[in-house]
This record gives sequence, structure tokens and C-alpha cells, in this order.
Amino acid sequence: MKKKFLILALASLLGTGAFAQNRGQREYKIIINDADSVTNADVDAKLKAAFFQVYPGFAQADGYRTKRNVELDFVTDETPTIKARAGEIKVNSEWVKNKSQKKIEKELFTALSKNWVSYSKEKHKGYTLTLISKDPNLDPVVRKKLIKTYFEIYPTLVKTFNNKSTNNVLFVVDTAYKAVAEASGNRILFSAGYMKAHPTDIDVVTHETMHIVQGYGYSAGPVWLTEGIADYVRYKYGVDNVGSKWSLPAYNDKQSYKNSYRITARFFAWLEQNVKPGLIATLDQQLRAHQYTEQSWAALTGKTVDQLWEDYSKEPQKVTLTYSSK
Ligand SMILES: [Zn+2]
Repeated sequence: MKKKFLILALASLLGTGAFAQNRGQREYKIIINDADSVTNADVDAKLKAAFFQVYPGFAQADGYRTKRNVELDFVTDETPTIKARAGEIKVNSEWVKNKSQKKIEKELFTALSKNWVSYSKEKHKGYTLTLISKDPNLDPVVRKKLIKTYFEIYPTLVKTFNNKSTNNVLFVVDTAYKAVAEASGNRILFSAGYMKAHPTDIDVVTHETMHIVQGYGYSAGPVWLTEGIADYVRYKYGVDNVGSKWSLPAYNDKQSYKNSYRITARFFAWLEQNVKPGLIATLDQQLRAHQYTEQSWAALTGKTVDQLWEDYSKEPQKVTLTYSSK
């Protein structure tokens, strides 16, 4: 029952273009290894067409490190079927005979979906979240919290910072991914290992979904600024920073605003309280409009970012920090 649901749901997922919002279509390639001519050009054409219909959607959900070049081999020693995973498709030469392209597509699709442990799609007040897990040991509590936090935080971030953001987001929990998490287009990749080790660190969702809302595209501004904003937003809008023992580190003179993440975020909290409320939202808008330059700081505050950091370093304790908790 569950399997059937998975396949049907996946069909609708691909059909409705849930992946279409990922920027930058990448190239996919299939090599059909048919040295012994077990099949003919007509079959090859159907296999190729089915591949291009189904595989890009799978690959986008699989993550950008997935294999884009796929080899297809014919096998004769297994029950007539098709098996597929990233980079590799095995087709039984008996099975492929007299099959329509649609039928091949459908079964390729089923074969690829077996690479995922679970799939779900939820809608709430105009926002959609698709969650794919490749981790058989994903704690159901963590899974629930990921979904709950998305619906709790993402609409707020969209309304506050960028109401043109997508309302259709894809979460992928991957065992092969070893960092913490990352956002690209409308997809957020979570490390299964990290979430297992840090089940309370649910505001990773806040930081990462802010990256979707930021949507600056390429070369809009420095990385420290993008990451500083995402952590400042986690600080300000996060749902349970106390629960995850996440906080902004105290200032010391070895720091620089270019350190990024929480160090930059604390500086931003200080700027919001002491220099200009709303500064971070304005910088975020400028970055998205590709209007941000180093001069933006002076134009908005009368001081360069280095001067502002200098001011911060003189009285870094002059900020009241409050953390969210459940
Ligand atoms: Zn980030």
C-alpha cells in the first residue's frame, strides 16, 4: 500500500513540475551499451525518450552530486524487469521487447523511486512541502519536526522578506551527504547523520529556508553577508534556539564581520539595535535586486562596514539578545 502510494505520488510530483523551479537545467546523458545488439534502434529510442522524461526529476531530488551520466546495460540472467539507480540502469532484454515508451517510463520511474525510503507531500495554507528520505533510520519525530518547522517558519520568512519566493519546497534527507544542510533552488538537502546526532537543531530549517527566500542568484554579494543574514534570521525568527543550545558567540578581538554565520549575525543584531532598525531587511532586498555594493553601508548608515565593526568592537555588550524556545 505504502509502495503504491509512493509511486503514484511520485508520478504526480514529477507531472506537476515540483522540480521545475530549480534554476539552471543541467545536462543529462545516457549511454546504451549494446555491443551484442540484443535490441534494435526502435527500442533504444524508446529507452532514451523514457530516460529524458523521468531521470532529470529523479536526479534533482537526488541532489546535485548525483550522477548525470547514466549507463544502460542489458541483462539476460534476471527475471524480466528494469533496475535503476543514480548513474546506472539495467534492463532485461526480454522485458524491453514490445514495450511502449509510456510503459518503459512508468517502470523506470518505479525502479528509481525504490532508491528512496520514503516520500510525502503536504500542503497547508498555500504552501507545499515534499519530503524525500533516503535514510531508513530517520527518526519519525525528527521527520515530523522538519515538516512542522517548515510550515511554522517559511510563510513568515516569505511574507517578511520576499513574497515572490516559491511556495513549493523540497526537503531531501540524505545519508550520503556529510555536511549539515544546504539549499539550492527550491531544494534543501539535509544530512541524515547530522540530524541523527543533533535532533534538536531544528532551526537548521530556518537558516536554510531563508536561503530560498534570499534567492540572490550568483555574485550578488559576499558569502559572509549571505550567511550572516541567514544566521541573523535564525536568531530572530528561529522556533527553538534555546532547545538546540544555539546562541550568538560573545565578541572577541580575533573576530571579523567576514567570519560569517553567528559572528556576523551578532554584529547584525547589534546594528539593528544601535544603528538602524530594518538595516538587514534592506540589505537583503538590495542583494536580491543585485543593487548591493560596499557603498551600501555608508549610504544606509553614514559609515562603512569597517567603521561599523570598529564601533561594535568598542561596546559589543550593548545589545539585548533574546532566544526563542518551545
Ligand atoms: Zn547557509
